[in-house]
Amino acid sequence: MCGIVGYSGKKNAAPVLLEGLRRLEYRGYDSAGIAINTKKGIRSVKVKGKVAGLEEKLLEKPVVGSCGIAHTRWATHGKPSVRNAHPFRYNSFAIVHNGIIENWKTLKDDLIKAGYNFTSDTDTEVALICFCALFEKTQSIGKAILQLVKMLKGAYAFLIIDEQNPSTIIGVKNGNPLVVGKNADDIIAASDLTALLSFTNRAFFLEDRQFFVAGDGNIDFYNFEGGKISNTPVDVKWNQEEAKKGGYKHYLLKEIMEQPAALTRALAGRVDNLLFDELKNRITPKGRIICIACGTSYNAALCFKYFINMLSGVSVTVEFASEFRYQPHDLSADSLVIALSQSGETSDTKEALLRAKNSGAHTIAIVNSWESSIARAADETIYMNIGQEISVASTKAYTAEVALLYLVALRIASERGAAAEKIDAWKQKIKEVPKIQSNYLENSGSVEDIAKKYYKKKNFFYIGRGIGYPVAIEGALKLKELSYMHAECYASGEMKHGPISLIDSEFPTIAVAPPGGLRDKLFSNVSEIKSRMGQVILVSDSMLAGCDFIKMPKIDAWLSPFVYILPLQLFSYYAANLLGNDVDQPRNLAKSVTVE
Ligand code: GLU
Repeated sequence: MCGIVGYSGKKNAAPVLLEGLRRLEYRGYDSAGIAINTKKGIRSVKVKGKVAGLEEKLLEKPVVGSCGIAHTRWATHGKPSVRNAHPFRYNSFAIVHNGIIENWKTLKDDLIKAGYNFTSDTDTEVALICFCALFEKTQSIGKAILQLVKMLKGAYAFLIIDEQNPSTIIGVKNGNPLVVGKNADDIIAASDLTALLSFTNRAFFLEDRQFFVAGDGNIDFYNFEGGKISNTPVDVKWNQEEAKKGGYKHYLLKEIMEQPAALTRALAGRVDNLLFDELKNRITPKGRIICIACGTSYNAALCFKYFINMLSGVSVTVEFASEFRYQPHDLSADSLVIALSQSGETSDTKEALLRAKNSGAHTIAIVNSWESSIARAADETIYMNIGQEISVASTKAYTAEVALLYLVALRIASERGAAAEKIDAWKQKIKEVPKIQSNYLENSGSVEDIAKKYYKKKNFFYIGRGIGYPVAIEGALKLKELSYMHAECYASGEMKHGPISLIDSEFPTIAVAPPGGLRDKLFSNVSEIKSRMGQVILVSDSMLAGCDFIKMPKIDAWLSPFVYILPLQLFSYYAANLLGNDVDQPRNLAKSVTVE
C-alpha cells in the first residue's frame, strides 16, 4: 500500500519527490505529504486526497531545499485527513512510514505518561516520538534507531530527515519494502523501483532488519544488531517506457490489450524445457502441494488445481494466504508450496511463504516485481517477465500467472511419468495462446455493446463449470473491483441449491461456457435461470437462443483461462468507464497490499 520517497542530492528536492510520489500513485492512497530541509529548518506540506493537490499547494508556496521525504498514505490508524497525513515532525526530525506499528497503544500510553504530546491518531507518530525520546537520551541517531527497533512490533519502512544534519536521510526496513539508488549527484530512496528509475538503474535493496544512513553522496548500511554491512547494487532491467500508457485511455485497457505480448514474454524459452532454467531440481514432492495467494493470484491458482488434476491426477490445495498463515498445517520437507503475488510484496503471502519455509517445505514464488520481498524469500523464483503492471486491478499478471502454473503443472506431470505425447500436445496448445488472444482482442467490439446494455444493473451472477468456473470467479472479482457492482460467482451446478432464489429480470447472469463435456450441463443451468426471467450473457463459441452472446473463438477448453477471461476483463473495464469510475485506481483498493 501507499509509498514513501526520500531524496538527498544537488537538485531541488520537491520536484524530485513529487515525481517519485506520482510514480508510486498506482499503489493506492488517500492523502499525501512532503517535508523538506530548508535553510530555515524542516518545512512540510500535506493534503487529504491526491498528489496533484499537493503539487498545487507547493506551486502556491514553494518549499526549497535539496533533501526531503514524501509520502502517500493508505490509512490504517486514524482516518484520512491532513492531521493524520505524513510526514510527522518532532524536535529536529521528520518521518514518513509505510506499514503498521502493532504495539502503538502501549507505547503511546507510556509516552503520554512521560509527558509527550501527540498531534495525530497514527501509529507512525508514536514511532517518531519514541525515536525522539531515545535520541534525547542517547544523542546518537544510530543508537536511537537500534533501541527503537527493539521496542517496535509490526512492519515498517521509515524514512527520517533531521534539521541538525540537513543532507542526511535515514531509511529503516522491517517487513515493508525499501530500496535506495544512487548516481553521481543524487541519492533517492523509495518503496519500489518505479520511483528510482528516472535517476538510476542501480539499486540497493534492503533486507528486513536493516537500515541505512545516507547523504553527501554516501550510503552506509547497518543491521539491527548495529553492525555495518555491505550491500551490492543490482542493475535493474525495467525501462521507463514500459510504465507509460502507450496511447490508451487507461493503464487497465493497455494492460488488457498487451496480454498477448506479455504472455509471449512470460513463456519465452520456458515451454520446451518446462522452466528448467529456473527450477533446476526435480520439483515434484513426495508430499502435499499447496498454492498460497490472495485475490486475483488466488483465482489463478484455482486454474492450476484443474490443470494439474487433469494432467497427473495429483490434487493441489489452494489456500488464501491470509488464512493459511494462521492455520495449523502438516507441511514438511516433503511438501511443495507455491506462492503467487504480482507485486511480490503482498504481506499475507509473504508471511504464509515464510511460515511454509520454516516448516521445511520447498518454496517456489511466482512474482512479477523483480527482487521483491517474496522473490527474495522463496527457495526458487519464477519471474513473470511481463513488464510493470500499473493499473490496480490485475489483468496481464493473471494470465501470466496462469501460464506459468500451466508449465509447472506440465513439469510435475512429466516428472511423474505422464506420456510424452500428452505433454507435447499441451506444450503445443499454450504456444498458440498469444496468437489466439490477439485475434480475439482485435474483434472484441461486441463486449462494449453488452456493457452499454448492462452497466446500470446492481447485481450479477457469474457461473461456470470445470475449468470455466475459476475463470468466472476471476471475472466476478474484476467486476467488483472496477465497477463496484455486486458480483457473485457459483459453480453453475450450485445455483439450484440456493442462489437461484435471487434471480429475477433485474439480476443478470454471465455464463462462462467453454467447450467440453460439462457445457451441456451448464446450458441446462442457463435454461433454469432463463425460465425464472433471468437475463443471461453467454460467453461461448456456441449460441443459445434467448441469451446475449459474446462470441468466442473455437479453442481447446484448457486454454479458456487465457482467452475467455478477456471479454470478462473488458466487460468490467467498459462498465467501470461508463459509470465514470477511477478505472486505474478503484476506490478502497491498493496495488501492493503490504499490510495485513
Ligand atoms: N500506519 C500508518 C498510518 O496509518 C501508515 C500507513 C501507510 O502505510 O500509509 O498512517
